[in-house]
Amino acid sequence: METPSRRPRILLIYTGGTIGMIENPDTHTLQPFDFSHLIDNVPKIKMLNFEIDNVSFDSPIDSSDMSPAHWVEIVKTIERNYRKYDGFVVLHGTDTMAYTASALSFMLENLAKPVIITGSQLPIGEVRTDGEENLITALQIAADTDAAGMPMVQEVAILFENYLWRGNRSTKMSADNFNAFKSNNYPPLAKIGLGIHYNEDALYRRNERRPLRTHYELDPGVMFVDLFPGISEATLRHQLSTPGIKGIVLKTFGAGNAPTAEWFTRAIADAVDSGRVVVNVTQCVNGGVHKRYAAGDALMASGAVSGHDITGEAAITKMMHLFGLGLSPAEVSENFEQSLCGELTA
Ligand code: ASP
Repeated sequence: METPSRRPRILLIYTGGTIGMIENPDTHTLQPFDFSHLIDNVPKIKMLNFEIDNVSFDSPIDSSDMSPAHWVEIVKTIERNYRKYDGFVVLHGTDTMAYTASALSFMLENLAKPVIITGSQLPIGEVRTDGEENLITALQIAADTDAAGMPMVQEVAILFENYLWRGNRSTKMSADNFNAFKSNNYPPLAKIGLGIHYNEDALYRRNERRPLRTHYELDPGVMFVDLFPGISEATLRHQLSTPGIKGIVLKTFGAGNAPTAEWFTRAIADAVDSGRVVVNVTQCVNGGVHKRYAAGDALMASGAVSGHDITGEAAITKMMHLFGLGLSPAEVSENFEQSLCGELTA
């Protein structure tokens, strides 16, 4: 006699965001509401034959208020419940979702279960909401298994409208469209249409199974410096010498190019000599840093590290993580160029 297969167990972690917001009748702005509102508005969840439990941030937030302390809270929740559940769905505002997805991917080393992050552009109580479909599809993906009965998704991913994306490759592309996310340098992990069609070659798989290892230390001493034609030496030096900053994600032109003026490369070299790590990441939404132009070579010769095709979101959180591990600048530079969990193509 066949043993009846048990129902998938999913933990839903609600952090806030539009998906659970309602309109304040006085100010007409959207504000986070309590979690029961969300479940009441999606009675279809009960039609999934899953065991779903939920936990919520004490005070759900607009994701513009997301911080490393919140990432620690999410990771602690996953760690505490890792054995008990088959998968995790994190409900999150879209604004900083790609940062959270990137941070969680570094904090959850050896992750072998799905952590699916989703949200919506319209609140779940609204007639045309995208939240209901996103939530239900995210729950289904979190419960899906492959032919061997292993979790189909074994990484942090973002599910939004028609696609499942690798979390640490994703960027919010639109403030208006239902298809709000994209990973510009990596194919979708799944396409969502009548069915959920996985791109199995794109899914992250580790060679060896190792126990989950969580990292809670994130160093906030990081910043972006965004180049523009006309940036002055005074502005650049002021930014590069910001007190307490150890790591700089330098957003450069095209394939990783920067001004070739002597004052520019000297300023970068001085920052590197003073122990700061400068990572070269392109401002372009697609493509990466390549050795192609003299303007890129001059920057790299001054000691910058290549971010290859990493997103800005993954670059800044990867730096927080690497400095959080207590690594020296040389070690951070060396580790930065390697893919830790599929975030870049070296
Ligand atoms: N401001 C909202 C947030 O990120 C937007 C959203 O949820 O889509 O929390």
